[in-house]
Amino acid sequence: MDIIYCQGCGAEIQSTNPNEVGYTPKSSLEKENILCKRCFRLKHYNEIQDVSITDDDFLKMVSSIQQKEGLVVHVIDIFDVNGSMIKSLPRIVGNNPILLVGNKMDLLPKSTNQRKLIQWLRSSAKEAGIKVEDVFLISSMKGHGIEELTEQMEAYRKGKDVYIVGTTNVGKSTFINRLIKQSVGVDEVITTSYFPGTTLGFIEIPLDDNSALIDTPGIVNKQQIAHYISDRDLKMITPNKEIKPRVYQLNEEQTLFFGGLARLDFIKGDRQSFVCYFSNQLNIHRTKLEKADDLYEKHVGDLLSPPDEESMQSLPKLVPQSFKISNEKTDIVFPGLGWVSVSGNVTVEVHSPKGVHASIRKSLI
Ligand code: GDP
Repeated sequence: MDIIYCQGCGAEIQSTNPNEVGYTPKSSLEKENILCKRCFRLKHYNEIQDVSITDDDFLKMVSSIQQKEGLVVHVIDIFDVNGSMIKSLPRIVGNNPILLVGNKMDLLPKSTNQRKLIQWLRSSAKEAGIKVEDVFLISSMKGHGIEELTEQMEAYRKGKDVYIVGTTNVGKSTFINRLIKQSVGVDEVITTSYFPGTTLGFIEIPLDDNSALIDTPGIVNKQQIAHYISDRDLKMITPNKEIKPRVYQLNEEQTLFFGGLARLDFIKGDRQSFVCYFSNQLNIHRTKLEKADDLYEKHVGDLLSPPDEESMQSLPKLVPQSFKISNEKTDIVFPGLGWVSVSGNVTVEVHSPKGVHASIRKSLI
């Protein structure tokens, strides 16, 4: 069979994997001027759909930004900062300026200190070796912060293109769809252009006569817990409305299980509160430390769920990490799941799926 390229983004057309670049259903292959499903939806419904891509392909594809001049907008999920930060970004985008955008603001409790959150995002980026010009907090879903961000994007881009980059599931499509509605109105049909060899897999949305907003495919990051669990479980652990903190008074040698996806052992310290910020639907189970291993062994997947059966096939083993926390109010962060806030002198051991490391930060609340 001849290789066919999408008339919109230039990606090679394939009919096997709907979530990857260039997918078109077999039934559409007979048509002239074939568009991949992603470009088709954009053209006819003004709607961006995310497609995923592996590290290597992503690197190859997105590295072409190095040769261009433009503003890079890196969208991350504030619930999964570690899993959604693209550590190879500086290598990929060369000297182009980067704005860091923390999405899904609407999920955080209203009492969240936004200044601290911005500081934490800034330092997380720095730790990952990413130099950012500025940090913004938005909710693509609710629209918070979008206006300010759009203004700043206009200022920072200095008439050049804007590249939107992000890992899968951060809300990149939701964000772009909002921008599209805002700038062109729903009725206007967007046409994309394809310059062979340069914009493979990129989708361009014109901003003015000379520049465009460019959607790049979402990279899959192996540090995202989302990568290891079923769609059903992902839905369960992803908060869908503002998180209600759950407070547990614990004595030392007690354990909290977050479903069966993570665990916190209170090893040493005075009795105190552990304030848990997770999706309201995620089951938190308290037990004695001495019983915890046995309970996990016997009940992961039922009493301690998610994981469901499908996720259990792919979920890496839980591995422990120790943290000694002194008086300052501190959050223990389980990337992609949530966090636990403590304020005394405590030693904890936390268990998270191998490769999805927990970390600590100054408390946001
Ligand atoms: P993409 O893979 O990065 O393109 O992400 P999507 O735009 O498809 O969004 C992934 C999931 O996050 C979807 O379930 C969205 O509804 C949800 N989402 C996106 N933006 C927001 C937001 O600002 N707030 C909340 N609560 N959910 C969001």
